[in-house]
Amino acid sequence: AGKLFIVGTPIGNLEDMTYRAIRILQEVDFIAAEDTRNTIKLCNHFDIHTPLISYHEHNTRVAGEKIIEYLKTGKDIAIVSDAGMPCISDPGTDLVKLAIEQEIAVVPVPGPNAAVTALVASGITPQPFLFWGFLARQKKEQKEQLKKLQRYEETLLFYEAPHRLKQTLRNLTEQFGEERKIVMARELTKRFEELLRGTLAEAVEWADTHEIRGEFCLVVEGNCNVQEEVIEEWWTELSIKDHVEQV
Ligand code: SAM
Repeated sequence: AGKLFIVGTPIGNLEDMTYRAIRILQEVDFIAAEDTRNTIKLCNHFDIHTPLISYHEHNTRVAGEKIIEYLKTGKDIAIVSDAGMPCISDPGTDLVKLAIEQEIAVVPVPGPNAAVTALVASGITPQPFLFWGFLARQKKEQKEQLKKLQRYEETLLFYEAPHRLKQTLRNLTEQFGEERKIVMARELTKRFEELLRGTLAEAVEWADTHEIRGEFCLVVEGNCNVQEEVIEEWWTELSIKDHVEQV
C-alpha cells in the first residue's frame, strides 16, 4: 500500500514552507487539498505539478473512500489544508482514522501551526496548555464552554474569525473577569503581524476602537486563583467493620 503524508504548509509566509514538504508534494501521486484553488497557488510557487484531489469537510466520506482506494493500490497521497497543519481545526482527522483502520502508514510532515506560533510569542506560560480551536458560534453553547473553561489552570488557545472576535472577547470577559491576561496574535508570519498583550478588559477596548481585520489566534492565561475545593476524603466512606472483615 501507499503512504498517507500529512503535510504542513505556511500560515501566511511562503518562506515557512519546508524543503521536505516541497519534495513530498512533488513526489506523491496525488495531493488531497482542502481548497484546490488555494493549493494550486502554493504548487505553482514551488514548482509542484502533482494532480490535486478535493478533500474538504463536506465530502470527507466520499472523497475519503476514494483516497483510501488509491492508497490501497499503492499510490502515495499527501493531505494539505489551506494553511498550517491539516487536522488542527482543519480537515484530515477522518482520513487519518480511516488510513489507520486500513493499516496504511501515516507519515507526519510537520510545518507551521498558528496556535503554537502564537503561544511561543505570547509570553504566557506555555505549558501545560489546552488547545480549544474555535469556540461554538451559538451564544448559549459558547457561554457553556467558557463557563467550563473558566476554572482551567492551563493556558488556553483559541482560534477566532475576525467578525466574531469582538463578541467572543466580551463573552470571555464576562466569564473570566476583566483582569485575566490575553495575547491576541494577529496575522502571524505576515506583513502586518501583531502581538497585542494585555488584560481582557483592554482587549475589549481595543476591539471597540479598531477595525478588526486579519486572522487571530487568542492565548488566554489559565485561572491562577482556583479556589481550594474541599475534596471528600475516600476513607470517610469506610467503616472499621469493612476493614476488619477484609483482614
Ligand atoms: N490548520 C491551521 C493551523 O495549523 O494553524 C488552522 C486552520 S483554522 C481553519 C484557521 C484559523 O487559524 C484562523 O481563523 C485563525 O484563528 C488561525 N490562524 C491561521 N493563520 C493565522 C495567522 N497567520 N495568524 C493568526 N492566526 C491564524
